[in-house]
Amino acid sequence: MSVDVPSPFHMTPQRVPPVKTQFRVIQTDIPAPQTVETLRTLAEREPQSMLGQPPIVWHRAEGIQVFDVAGNKWLDWSSGVLVASAGHGRREIIDAIIEEARRPLLHNYVFPSAPRAHLVDRLVSLAPAKLDTAYLLTTGSEAVECAIKLARTWGHRTGGPHKNKIVSFEHAFHGRTLGAQQAGGIPSLKEWIVTRDPDFHQVPSPVDPRTPDHTFQAFETALDAQSVHPDEVAAVITETIQGSNPALYPIDYVHDLGRWCEHHGVLLVFDEIQAAFGRTGRRFGFEHYGVVPDLMTLGKAVTSSLPLAAVLGRSDVMNQFPPGSMTSTHTGSPLAVVAALANIDIIERERLTENAERMGQVLRTELEAIRQRFPHVVAGVAGVGLVYGIHLVQNDSLEPAHDLAFRVVEKAIQKGLMLFAPVGYGGGTIKICPPLIITAEAIRDGASALSEALAETLVETETPAAAAVS
Ligand code: PMP
Repeated sequence: MSVDVPSPFHMTPQRVPPVKTQFRVIQTDIPAPQTVETLRTLAEREPQSMLGQPPIVWHRAEGIQVFDVAGNKWLDWSSGVLVASAGHGRREIIDAIIEEARRPLLHNYVFPSAPRAHLVDRLVSLAPAKLDTAYLLTTGSEAVECAIKLARTWGHRTGGPHKNKIVSFEHAFHGRTLGAQQAGGIPSLKEWIVTRDPDFHQVPSPVDPRTPDHTFQAFETALDAQSVHPDEVAAVITETIQGSNPALYPIDYVHDLGRWCEHHGVLLVFDEIQAAFGRTGRRFGFEHYGVVPDLMTLGKAVTSSLPLAAVLGRSDVMNQFPPGSMTSTHTGSPLAVVAALANIDIIERERLTENAERMGQVLRTELEAIRQRFPHVVAGVAGVGLVYGIHLVQNDSLEPAHDLAFRVVEKAIQKGLMLFAPVGYGGGTIKICPPLIITAEAIRDGASALSEALAETLVETETPAAAAVS
């Protein structure tokens, strides 16, 4: 294929050595020549912004494996993008969707339905008692927008029109819509907004290695520096672990944050869109901190499949709008709802949260071994449960190694290990987030592929650190 597109990955089939392990099979050029036509159509008909991921055309995905049409098989370390926590294509989820489709009930707008009642009840029963009301939406960004609207309205009610400010963290990601993007902490993603809402403020992230002060003092100092008085703050919103650097925040910091919010009548909103449903080795990420938010947003792994998101919160905050005034066309879309119910049953029955914690130890050991093997370019390994990031840097510096990270991901893909494009500051972080059903054997198989990918890329790019490879 010669699709002349600005993808960071090779779109033309590359000759690669064959691979055959229990979890990975590569038997054609990559991308497979049979998939080139599909890639070409997508490249021609979609905006180039869709070209950010490795050009593997997913044909089928089951459990921890992804297949293309040419019989190549990948070990999935992406879960899509932290969606397929229960594993891809789980039979119970498929059966629930088929049964609902055959009934048939494909759509019911906000008219009542029994599955929606079951799901909101189930979500509330899983959450701490304080979060006793649930509202179903479709995408994570939509849930974040809703949380912002609820928080601001609450601020106005309790503190007047000046209690309007939304505080969030640098490097945070909360979605790409107007409000969610302004709550995010990545300036380059906000340039399109031009006239920004002056009442969104960011403070330094307590897991940013470039931030000197990781105590809660830094939060107050940053607000001071922006002339933000605590009484003007409606809400603080934060991921429980940042997507771009999935390390836990310092526990004392989050305790202090919780206390500060309570003291100043500020709502605490945890964006659990990546963390919830066992990913971090706890049902919800905030359980690591022992702090319960006033609102939380859910998405991604709530179904392990179809689009569904939710806001859970205190009923007094959730009930601010009168009947008919907080709706969304696909709220509680029946197929997504039954998928969520079946998925949550799997996660609970198979104790996947506990598996994430146990397998997370294995993953950490393997990634630490990689860090020790490549100390000049792997600056750190951060994560918890089954979500990790490996920070690649330019030789012995703090400068993120964007190009190296992309080449390593591409090489891993050629070896049958499915990863998405690097993330984080400077695009130097390779993120690892397999389905929670993964075994120790599969983790070790994937780690050996990643280690080989790193070693070979360093040689091919003549990175001086290659000399350190043992
Ligand atoms: N919040 C967080 C923490 C996320 O990771 C994401 C998506 N990566 C979103 C919000 C936005 O979700 P969506 O893409 O479903 O709109």
